[in-house]
Amino acid sequence: RAKSTATNTICFYDPSMDQMARERNALAMEMRSGLQAGEFELFYQPQIDAVTSKVIGYEALLRWRHSRRGMVAPSEFIPVAERSGFIAELGEWVLRTACAEAATWGNPLCIAVNVAAQQLTDNKLPAIVGEILTQTGLDAKRLELEITESSLIADQQHALHVIRQLKRLGVKIAMDDYGTGYSSLSTLQTFPFDKIKIDRAFVEDVASSRQSAAIVRSTLILASSLDIPVLAEGVETEEHIDFLRREGCPQVQGFLFGKPMPRDAIDAVVNRNVKAEAPEVDAA
Ligand code: C2E
Ligand code: MG
Ligand code: MG
Ligand code: MG
Repeated sequence: RAKSTATNTICFYDPSMDQMARERNALAMEMRSGLQAGEFELFYQPQIDAVTSKVIGYEALLRWRHSRRGMVAPSEFIPVAERSGFIAELGEWVLRTACAEAATWGNPLCIAVNVAAQQLTDNKLPAIVGEILTQTGLDAKRLELEITESSLIADQQHALHVIRQLKRLGVKIAMDDYGTGYSSLSTLQTFPFDKIKIDRAFVEDVASSRQSAAIVRSTLILASSLDIPVLAEGVETEEHIDFLRREGCPQVQGFLFGKPMPRDAIDAVVNRNVKAEAPEVDAA
């Protein structure tokens, strides 16, 4: 009995948790100054038409080039930004930067932007997106907002209200990481998605696991009956793309076709065809 009390006492005060909270606070503060200092940037990963292998758009993925820590992964800082509330400001910066960048492209490709749960429950999001579209001049139908299922569970009615307003602006809504949430099917029933992105956990194993293959196959059938295009994430090998093409998956994204790249690297690609087709300008 004495022993169990002692154990409880240890659980009651855990200095390592205190330490973790301190580190999170420090990181949250560094994020604010990092945004001011221009340490954040967007990388862009191509999204591909599975039939033609042509680029149809890019997903913007946030990167933090920290002055001391080096490149910090989004999985490390996005959760901290969400907890501290800084995600609202950071997310708005991401939207504005991605839309401004896409507006300069010679080819009117789509730009997909990840939106966090807290942004989605903010009543101001549709107004913010509308203002960014006006200011950057980006055509609304080129913008796709990627949201995960977990960001929809908290307050479904509220999220639905915000999503409907966003769709009225003309932007598209994609369900990210499909299949990893608690109730993917009921989310499909409730929300008007324009795209389903199958999580890479399923794609990874399509060649080796009957279960994963069956899940991907049945998702493709389900989505096609609902008239929702599917994009398979995390396509890394020829085996993956062969399976997906055979099963009629319309869109893919993954290291096989391109890793997330800095802006300069894609600028040449998104303007290449346009430059080649543009008439020669007489220098005189
Ligand atoms: P996500 O939206 O599902 O993005 C796909 C992630 O998978 C990216 O990781 C990408 O680099 C990675 N990926 C793409 N193709 C492959 C592949 O073939 N193999 C493997 N192993 N990985 C691949 P990243 O950039 O580290 O981002 C991780 C997550 O962080 C994103 O998952 C998204 O949930 C979140 N995130 C990134 N940028 C933002 C942002 O601007 N705002 C918000 N709210 N979340 C973001
Ligand atoms: Mg995404
Ligand atoms: Mg995803
Ligand atoms: Mg993800």
